[in-house]
Amino acid sequence: MSSYLAIAIDTPLRRLFDYRAPADADPGRLVPGQRLWVPFGRRRAVGILVATKAHSELPEQKIRRALEVIDAVPVFDAGLLELLVWSADYYRHPVGEVLAAALPTPLRQGAAAAALETRWSPTPLGIGAAFAALSPRAKRLRAVMTALVDGGAAGIDAATLAATGTDWRGAIRTLIERGYASRTTSIGLDSQPEPGTRATGPPLSPGQEQAVATITRRLGTFGTLLLDGVTGSGKTEVYLRAIEAVLAQGQQALVLVPEIALTPQLTQRFQDRFATRLAVLHSSLTDRERLDAWRQTRTGAAGIVIGTRSAVFAPLSRPGLIVVDEEHDASYKQQEGFRYSARDLAIARAQRLGVPVVLGSATPSLESLARLTRADQRTRNEHLVLPCRAGNAQPPRLGVIDLRQHAANQGLSTPAMLAIRRHLDAGGQVLLYLNRRGYAPTLFCPACGWAAPCKRCDARLTVHKRSNRLVCHHCSAEEIAPAICPSCGAQPKPVGQGTERIEETLGEVFPGVAALRIDRDNIRRKGELDAAMTRIHSGAVRLLIGTQMLTKGHHFPEVSLVVVLNADQGLFSTDFRASERLAQTIIQVAGRAGRAERAGEVLIQSEYPEHPLLLQLLEGGYGAFAAAALREREQAGWPPYSRLALLRADAATEDPPFRFLAAARALASGPISLLGPAAAPMQRREGRYRAQLLLQASGPGPLQQVLSGWIPRLDELPEARKVRWSIDVDPLELF
Ligand code: ADP
Ligand code: ZN
Ligand code: ZN
Repeated sequence: MSSYLAIAIDTPLRRLFDYRAPADADPGRLVPGQRLWVPFGRRRAVGILVATKAHSELPEQKIRRALEVIDAVPVFDAGLLELLVWSADYYRHPVGEVLAAALPTPLRQGAAAAALETRWSPTPLGIGAAFAALSPRAKRLRAVMTALVDGGAAGIDAATLAATGTDWRGAIRTLIERGYASRTTSIGLDSQPEPGTRATGPPLSPGQEQAVATITRRLGTFGTLLLDGVTGSGKTEVYLRAIEAVLAQGQQALVLVPEIALTPQLTQRFQDRFATRLAVLHSSLTDRERLDAWRQTRTGAAGIVIGTRSAVFAPLSRPGLIVVDEEHDASYKQQEGFRYSARDLAIARAQRLGVPVVLGSATPSLESLARLTRADQRTRNEHLVLPCRAGNAQPPRLGVIDLRQHAANQGLSTPAMLAIRRHLDAGGQVLLYLNRRGYAPTLFCPACGWAAPCKRCDARLTVHKRSNRLVCHHCSAEEIAPAICPSCGAQPKPVGQGTERIEETLGEVFPGVAALRIDRDNIRRKGELDAAMTRIHSGAVRLLIGTQMLTKGHHFPEVSLVVVLNADQGLFSTDFRASERLAQTIIQVAGRAGRAERAGEVLIQSEYPEHPLLLQLLEGGYGAFAAAALREREQAGWPPYSRLALLRADAATEDPPFRFLAAARALASGPISLLGPAAAPMQRREGRYRAQLLLQASGPGPLQQVLSGWIPRLDELPEARKVRWSIDVDPLELF
């Protein structure tokens, strides 16, 4: 007898709660994944049934009765529920919060999961007698009655009635009163995605052909397929063809993309190609839009679901394929709260569903490359390579400018300026990349050495010239830029370059050439990005200056020169992933050049042109870099050859985080090594002192074994009360 319900509730407590079934419900008929209203403390809360059980550890009189069952059909099917519970366990995050994160907000608050569908149909009396009985002058009633009879027994919906062009609501009321029509309300739960294409794509290259064949051959079984194709090689075209096969089987495809900025272009391509409905899930939807997209996914009405990170939890009813585009992108990892990796969960989900997952990138993560060589998994994994650009497009030529020989004037060296001139004269567009917004990273006093600090962070304030402000890029604190040095009264100077300053320099060196800066200061809303893209594509803009925002996914067919203004930031970092990130950025930025008929040129400014990373990239491309980087990781024992977890703590004063982490360290035991506690690389941020303890294990098994016994005990430490702490499993950033 399963008479108790183990229920997840959206709270930070790391446990489930036991209830008895509502008075009017048979516990044997409740299904995991259903929502219920339950009493929780003094309030009512929405809970999700995770399991039914025969026994509870709690005394009988302490177990409260759930109030009411909300769903006839569970909001999570068994497979998705199992994945979510497993992820809560893997990432050591409270299960109630994990389940809530996978639902649109209205559903967390108890709204109906299924859209009710109302339809109207004619009664037998209506079909037999209505036209004879209705006056020939009752045009409205006759028009609506005709629509009803045309619709037949299946009935017609409000949209079809509205198409009669009359006040149909009044008419239908009259017809129902006279017994000629009836109304039914139902939950549309089992729609089929519409198959078929609106347009055909270009003939495939042999590489694309082979990739599509492999993916379609694998449909129906799990496998991780790494689509490793240089930028512009036609990866998206491969997704489109594979999805065509999925839709033809009456199944759905889930496509994950890293950034919202990517979705309009990609969404358009899917819309132009397929007849099916698209559900688009991203963070700037309204609650209502999100719920609609969720419902269309669950009913199966949407054949394709495109979304950012959290779309990995989309409630697919007939899943056939999962695609993770730009799988190397760091935004797949959530950096706060439930710190999951959507890429890794996409693989876990595909495995449970028994469907293939395609990971696409021009710069695959080292994790994905290492997976290909692991013998135990080789049969499951396949490497699909697209080595050439689609059509006639040529790969760009890469070159380094040695900044020690060619001093940069305001960030731009003479060879870079000459190259820009040459490309502008030839009618090309030029893209300059610098991952630092603002005017200058420091306001410095040459007389006394003062540099404007953030009061709440161990960081300097960035000069923003247009707004005449100093801004902290870590905590967003702002102040007016002082005209004189507060410590000696001399005049301080902005030192170094940000995108705003580069824009100013370009205006001086290339007067009259239209330039556009693309960063978070200049482009704040989605509409502004669309407008900027239109100006770029129309050719009105000749010079583009931008941060990461410019490098992701956008196609700029007229860009013939890309200048990477400063490659050196990532060369000497303490973070073992910095070189991977830098190589990916350089190759991704370079990929914006020469995508159409023009051959592209890429120039990288560096003070260290003989650095092995740059040499590898220049001589052997990303593949050569990745092979060398993997060997280094293996020797050093870093991921993907080991697994990490990072315990972070912070407090308003310096000591408590260290005391907590030291106590936590003393509690840890098992097959792991521990590094720390140590201060975070930026110890003070937003007025809080931060420290961390790194756990390293040989693989996920030993790591999970240690975490499962350890994390639940941390809250019991007296030192825990003085800090905020969090655990990050498989962290991407080591601070
Ligand atoms: P990726 O996703 O690898 O960057 P895309 O699929 O966006 O590449 O393709 C880049 C460009 O090449 C697009 O304009 C696309 O329409 C075009 N393209 C893709 N495949 C082919 C092909 N087989 N023949 C001609 N053009 C193609
Ligand atoms: Zn001074
Ligand atoms: Zn700050």
